[in-house]
Amino acid sequence: MKPEDQRLTSEQVGSIVKMLSLTTDREFNCAECLQHVSEFAECQLAKKPVGEVIASVEQHLALCPECREEYEALMKILKAGK
Ligand SMILES: [Zn+2]
Repeated sequence: MKPEDQRLTSEQVGSIVKMLSLTTDREFNCAECLQHVSEFAECQLAKKPVGEVIASVEQHLALCPECREEYEALMKILKAGK
């Protein structure tokens, strides 16, 4: 068998599993995150307790730099509007 015929190495499988465990927790994706991110931002500003869905936003933001950028931009707008 040639090396290129090999399926995933155990190292690759390990990193994929690790990646999945980070990204598919609660199956929250970017689209869903962005749907709720304004709610999350408002909770943060009002220092309200966050619900379960909103907690997932926070979790997603911790893992996803793109959504965190959206969130930070939103926070600036909300703070400026006060
Ligand atoms: Zn995201």
